[in-house]
Amino acid sequence: MTALVIAVDGPAAAGKGTLARRLAAHLGLPYLDTGLLYRATGRRVLDAGGDPADPVAATDAARTLTPQDFVRPDLRGPAADDAASKVAAIPAVRAELLDFQRRFGGAHGAVLDGRDIGTVVFPDARVKLFVTASAEERARRRHAELAGSGRAPKLDEVSAEMRARDARDAQRDVAPLVPADDAVLLDTTGLDADEAFAEALRIVESARGK
Ligand code: C5P
Repeated sequence: MTALVIAVDGPAAAGKGTLARRLAAHLGLPYLDTGLLYRATGRRVLDAGGDPADPVAATDAARTLTPQDFVRPDLRGPAADDAASKVAAIPAVRAELLDFQRRFGGAHGAVLDGRDIGTVVFPDARVKLFVTASAEERARRRHAELAGSGRAPKLDEVSAEMRARDARDAQRDVAPLVPADDAVLLDTTGLDADEAFAEALRIVESARGK
């Protein structure tokens, strides 16, 4: 039996991080938030005064990531969101980060959330979830999250930034945000966190039973 890998993909603020973390805890599997890899890479480029869309600077930053880069407090928020999705559109950056993700999940199984886990990182994952919610609901959630962390941007600004990031993620040439053919769609628009988790668990158990 191959290791149990659960791929959780979807656009920004659809609830996939919360879901993936709960699934991992419930199933006793390690959890990897792959967005952090791109966020940390983007942050390193910004720190050095570079442009996150510059392939040389971004690839160098991805190649030299260290564990400390993942625990810094400024990986969330509009600047990190924007830098992450710019470095993520660079093929060489994605290639640098691929091995780490495969090694993380390959040996003993894991839950990974991101944009391309079911399509590129683990195309043979036993369970693939594509988590979505309406654009309005995702903007509202993201706004509440930012307000909760002491920032107070306007809802329409949050919404515009999120749409721009989703468009960049969906339209890029390499590993675009798209559901795998065999992914199960989970729309969390009308669901609270407990309802979304119950539904995700049902999908996981049914996929494992096949
Ligand atoms: O998931 P999160 O919002 O933290 O991801 C930040 C950015 O990193 C995304 O907008 C996307 O551009 C990029 N990303 C990616 N592939 C992944 C995970 C994240 O391209 N597997």
